[in-house]
Amino acid sequence: MKHPIGFTAEIPADKREAMPTPVQLCHSTPVKSVVQVHFPRKNRTLGYYNDSFDLHRGDLVYVDGKLAGQRGRVVEVSYHFKIKLSDYRRVVAVADTEVHGTFYLAGSHLVTFARETLPYSKVRSWFKAPEQEETYVTGHDSETLCDLEHLDDLQVSSAIADRGYTYYLEDRVKYICLDGPYGRALVQGSTMYEVEFTCHGREISDLLCDCFCSYTCKHELAAMLQLRNALVFIEKYYADQYNAAHYFAAIEKGAFYTLVVDSRESGSITV
Ligand SMILES: [Zn+2]
Repeated sequence: MKHPIGFTAEIPADKREAMPTPVQLCHSTPVKSVVQVHFPRKNRTLGYYNDSFDLHRGDLVYVDGKLAGQRGRVVEVSYHFKIKLSDYRRVVAVADTEVHGTFYLAGSHLVTFARETLPYSKVRSWFKAPEQEETYVTGHDSETLCDLEHLDDLQVSSAIADRGYTYYLEDRVKYICLDGPYGRALVQGSTMYEVEFTCHGREISDLLCDCFCSYTCKHELAAMLQLRNALVFIEKYYADQYNAAHYFAAIEKGAFYTLVVDSRESGSITV
């Protein structure tokens, strides 16, 4: 039995059309404010000056200073203030959590087959601060590493196999997408790690993680287990949609609720 979920936020049509695609960060007219930002992982709420965005309660933001890189949620906005600038750190980025589209239930995750609904660049901003100017170099050998049905071929140590499997069971693969053969995943470890891979049929190659391991890591293994799980659901219930789009993106239900549903005051969900 199929269970589509429609999620629509009540956003004026003119604003929706103005949204660039893909969207990484909000670009609205700035309104100066002092905001209180709660950082759940630190269980702290601190004040920040904002002159770059139009911030509202519930917005997910990144700041500079000691908590740079930590995602915080705006819990209070003040427009009437007089502060000494040197006393305040600033808000440096806002995650764009506006989502429009239909989602399908697939175990621990919600799946969409529309590229514009959960693009990687957008979802990445929900979990990670914007990149500093940094140069990465990668090497690819493009050899088939393993078949999804035989992940034992990855030849990881038993410790990594255990951790990877535990990560998978704990739903730490917060997001995974496959566009044609090219896949990406976000895996929650001590920080959020980015995994990329290529998947032809069931054959996996070019598996890379930004934890900079030179061997197959627990994040990569967890991502492959999640990919296999997602494809089982998709092929069983949603094969037509997937075959038409050659694309899917899946987000873990808890993350979707916390980041997309819980942060907004209006919208609708249809089940
Ligand atoms: Zn890794």
